[in-house]
Amino acid sequence: MSSRETKTDVILIGAGIMSATLGTILKELVPEWKITVFEKLADAGEESSNEWNNAGTGHSALCELNYTVEKPDGSLDISKAIKINEQFQLSRQFWTYLVNNNLISNPQDFIMPLPHMSLVQGEENITFLKKRFKALSNNPLFQGMEYSDDPEKLMEWIPLIMQDRPSNEPIAATKIDSGTDVNFGALTRMLLDNLKSRDVDINYKQSVNQIKRTSDGLWELKVKNLESGTVESHTAKFVFIGAGGGSLHLLQKTGIPEGKHIGGFPVSGIFMVCNNQEVVEQHHAKVYGKASVGAPPMSVPHLDTRYIDNKKSLLFGPFAGFSPKFLKNGSMFDLITSVKPHNVLTILAAGAKELPLTKYLIQQLLLSKEQRMKELREFVPNAKSEDWDFVVAGQRVQVIKDTEAGGKGTLQFGTEVITAADGSIAALLGASPGASTAVHVMLEVLKKCFPQHIKDWEPKIIEMIPSYGISLMENPELFEQILTSTAETLGLSKKEQVERELVYS
Ligand SMILES: Cc1cc2nc3c(=O)[nH]c(=O)nc-3n(C[C@H](O)[C@H](O)[C@H](O)COP(=O)(O)OP(=O)(O)OC[C@H]3O[C@@H](n4cnc5c(N)ncnc54)[C@H](O)[C@@H]3O)c2cc1C
Repeated sequence: MSSRETKTDVILIGAGIMSATLGTILKELVPEWKITVFEKLADAGEESSNEWNNAGTGHSALCELNYTVEKPDGSLDISKAIKINEQFQLSRQFWTYLVNNNLISNPQDFIMPLPHMSLVQGEENITFLKKRFKALSNNPLFQGMEYSDDPEKLMEWIPLIMQDRPSNEPIAATKIDSGTDVNFGALTRMLLDNLKSRDVDINYKQSVNQIKRTSDGLWELKVKNLESGTVESHTAKFVFIGAGGGSLHLLQKTGIPEGKHIGGFPVSGIFMVCNNQEVVEQHHAKVYGKASVGAPPMSVPHLDTRYIDNKKSLLFGPFAGFSPKFLKNGSMFDLITSVKPHNVLTILAAGAKELPLTKYLIQQLLLSKEQRMKELREFVPNAKSEDWDFVVAGQRVQVIKDTEAGGKGTLQFGTEVITAADGSIAALLGASPGASTAVHVMLEVLKKCFPQHIKDWEPKIIEMIPSYGISLMENPELFEQILTSTAETLGLSKKEQVERELVYS
């Protein structure tokens, strides 16, 4: 072991969007705290936060049909859609603060305005979509949403999807222009660059292998330098485990009781990417469909315009699949080594319950290119096989835990913040709605881990996020004001949309 030992206030494990967001918020709240980051890969935002590893949707429930659930009496529950929309507004405000204060620049490098649409086929689904439109379009958070089942209108909105489609097929869509495409990889790198320039110690190719509590209540990490092979010891008062799919293993190493009886269920993903620029230019939206029966919510098919590497792209997917890895760059033993005496029954119970899901994921994994093209042709009837390639997306590790409602071994599709009772360590598990809600989730971490400071921090938090603690749905004027000011700073206004499109065309 090397002799280097350090003591610091905060250690962030992993250089993804979550650690980058937490580090940036903390640097604003308590600039004097010493922060150290350890990342096992060579750069920031290389796992799930990377632009090619996620769908880049600024999730605000404008188009994702799984956030509005039909109740047994036929009415719609829109509470989840409202919650996610409100959470995304926190991210927009924080990013606006960062741009206005020159902490990051060129917002067009990470966020682009893009209409968000939902598309359904068949009478039953159209009835659902109409109901959803009625429930949301009167809500201030979803203002500007339009509905159409008129083929001519749809041809105007989504020509690529409507061309060569049988004219007798019932089809309908909603469209809202205030959606976004977010390059979370670029944003992560911007945030970490800023932290580096402000004396945050960022270490790449350094893997955290061990975490234990010291007798004086600190956390001691054993960190392996993957280039030299040396292992160093670093202690901190507060540790955030933002290791994405790697978080569960690290949480287990802490030995905290809150980390027990939890398992992970890995779901892999594949996108199809269009390599024909003529086809790419015919589409301008994120168009979300309905998940097929038996499919998990994260495999809802969507056809998305993306802005990556200064180029407009077109992605379809994701096709979910099964892999025992917890990280894209992980190990085939990740799943098996996450099974411990305290969570084995929870995992076995989930295994028994989720057999149909596992079977579905394995079937998805075995699909041939032509079978995947068939699914794509539901969206783009004249899609040509030679125009489309595959990209492997990031891994999502869904949380398995025992719940009152679902019983032993229940699969969760959201994110979970697990903290020690004394708030000295926190881990983020799960993947949805993900990066879009990073600011909300990190504010939750602060509330849980620093209850003694949060009151003093509030004025600064409100300076960064003016709607902090306020329901925007219940304050439509404030919402309108925030929507306009964030759109102006982030370049999402109508005028900016036209100018940006010209740059990319
Ligand atoms: C297919 C797919 C589509 C998605 N689509 C969207 C979307 O459209 N919109 C959205 O908002 N979200 C989306 N998400 C979710 C989103 O990508 C994630 O929620 C988010 O990127 C997680 O960020 P993170 O910082 O927690 O993890 P990551 O970005 O995975 O970062 C974790 C980091 O920790 C490092 N690490 C792991 N173990 C160790 C260790 N022992 N020591 C040191 N470093 C370690 C890893 O190398 C990695 O860099 C999607 C995810 C997937 C997989």
